[in-house]
Amino acid sequence: MSGRTGYICACALLIALVVATWFQFRVPGAYVSEEFLMDTLVSIKAYGKDEETLKKGVHAAFAEMRRIAELADGFPGEGTDAARASDVCRINSRAGKLPVRVQADTMAMLVLAQRYSELSRGAFDVTVGPLMELWGFGGKTPRLPEPERLSAALALVGNRDLVLDRERGTAFLRRAGMKIDLGAVAKGYATESALRVLQRHGIDQALIDAGGNVRVLGLSPRGGGWSIGIRDPRNAEAVAAVLKLEDASAVTSGDYQRGFEEGGKRYHHILDPRTGYPAAHNASVTVVTRDAGLADVLSTMFFVLPPDRALEFAGAMERVELVLIGADGRIRHSASLGDRIQLKAGGKPTP
Ligand code: AMP
Ligand code: MG
Repeated sequence: MSGRTGYICACALLIALVVATWFQFRVPGAYVSEEFLMDTLVSIKAYGKDEETLKKGVHAAFAEMRRIAELADGFPGEGTDAARASDVCRINSRAGKLPVRVQADTMAMLVLAQRYSELSRGAFDVTVGPLMELWGFGGKTPRLPEPERLSAALALVGNRDLVLDRERGTAFLRRAGMKIDLGAVAKGYATESALRVLQRHGIDQALIDAGGNVRVLGLSPRGGGWSIGIRDPRNAEAVAAVLKLEDASAVTSGDYQRGFEEGGKRYHHILDPRTGYPAAHNASVTVVTRDAGLADVLSTMFFVLPPDRALEFAGAMERVELVLIGADGRIRHSASLGDRIQLKAGGKPTP
């Protein structure tokens, strides 16, 4: 090799090294996108070195969320023919008649819901559809139902009459008029599915926020855990507590999310399926656990239970933690959250 060729080779090697080092230590960039889905604004932030990967991953994650949302959609679009209706619409329209074949993800949501219906002895129950419809929380004009109509709707609620055949992949509501409502499950389940899509695209640092259902992956861009605020249920501007989380979900069910006032009393969308009325023990319940689908089910379930019972229940589960703001404003949380929770001024911790 001549001296000149050797010199050119050395230069090329040096340039290659500089470029490789730059790629290696480049500060991670962010790709952020938002979409309105499942009645809420969903935002996905992904961090990494290659913008094209982030963009592709985030777009695929949104497509996955849309797919799950469609399965759970309780309102058939105008002109939708029966065969193309969502799994939930098809189950509901064949109540009392025929089992319906559903997709694997619909079955997974129903199996999860049924498990916690049984464990909570009916505090959680996705067959609340007839009650939800009567109260009108899904629409623009929710109203206080007449007692007779409430009793009639209540009679159509009962997880025991939801028959799931996992081998055949079918779901069946035994009595005509029964209705499934996956409002307490689908957002969390879709969030977790979207997170897995991000991971399959090689993304290992991300935050998905689906209107109070937060899922974080890996470390925050600043290093360490991600700070997730829990809002004060009585003041939209104030934060009651801040959580520091890594690879976890924090899902909140709150009485401020949907509701109306009548006769000086506020009525909200999380119902006690045993009475037909809004559950009154809590103002907000946040569940911290890894899986966002599980966290979504549990946040609604714990919201319905009395605080002592909810804390005891969560304490008996592995890696499930709870922050509970009672109807009286008192904040309580699982002791195991330790220094991962910081209560803010105005928060009233357990004495
Ligand atoms: P979340 O905001 O996750 O607590 O879910 C509330 C939604 O779940 C409501 O809008 C209803 O669609 C549905 N829902 C209300 N009460 C219950 C209940 N007790 N069990 C299961 N789902 C419920
Ligand atoms: Mg929920």
